[in-house]
Amino acid sequence: MCCLWFCAAVNADFKKDVYAKTGITLKDLGKNQYQFVPFEEKRAHRNHYFMRPEGQTVTTILLHDTVGGVFSALNKFSDGKEPPLNAHYVITKKDGQVPAGLVIEMVPPPLMAQHAWPSWFRGKDDANQYAIGIELVGKGFVDQGRKRYFYAYDPMQIKALAVLLARLVKEYAIRPENILSHADVSPQRKYDVTILFPWRALYEKYGLGMGLDGDERTIQRIMKKFPVSLALPEKFNEAFFQNMLTLLGYDTRFADDYDASAGEKRAK
Ligand SMILES: [Zn+2]
Repeated sequence: MCCLWFCAAVNADFKKDVYAKTGITLKDLGKNQYQFVPFEEKRAHRNHYFMRPEGQTVTTILLHDTVGGVFSALNKFSDGKEPPLNAHYVITKKDGQVPAGLVIEMVPPPLMAQHAWPSWFRGKDDANQYAIGIELVGKGFVDQGRKRYFYAYDPMQIKALAVLLARLVKEYAIRPENILSHADVSPQRKYDVTILFPWRALYEKYGLGMGLDGDERTIQRIMKKFPVSLALPEKFNEAFFQNMLTLLGYDTRFADDYDASAGEKRAK
């Protein structure tokens, strides 16, 4: 439970903390929403945003994990270094004094931020040009020895994400298949968001992204809903899987064992 007075006090502390630890001034928009106030001329190099290419519309949303905490993410997104990395939104998770589900707009979506370069999806280079980047504060995973451990996402953070996504989907007419993860557009080098990201809950609870309704979970219904031009193989084979990924838009050019156009294993 959270009374208004208590939340307001906690959030005011957050704003002060951000200024103390990063030098960034945030404008409080209310309802747990904040907006980055651009640095003035003398420190304008700390404003990491650009114009999108002329005529470029926003078609896609890319989800990320920050890996570091919120303050280190905000520092990275305003350090004035090359390349100037940033994302449009950062959403907090509960971490010590930091409340969960605060949404910080670092870059307004009509402008461009650099959160996905290099990248490639559905034949297009550089997703920064057409995407909105949303960073979920969190480590994603940690490797210990030969094992990889994944961190669960904070439910309050996911709820705030859903509210933000619903607004952006409406405002920019984003298609369900265009809510993607960073790993989708850079599969060779990126792992965010991780396998614990609740895509299914996002679809079932909030009607966002792609999913199957209960009675659609049969091969026949799936094939009807998402028709593919490839014949199903008799049994699983890697070439078919590779070709399906290619059809969905993934960059499989690096996987040169298979010839996507021929739909079969490439002779070595
Ligand atoms: Zn990322």
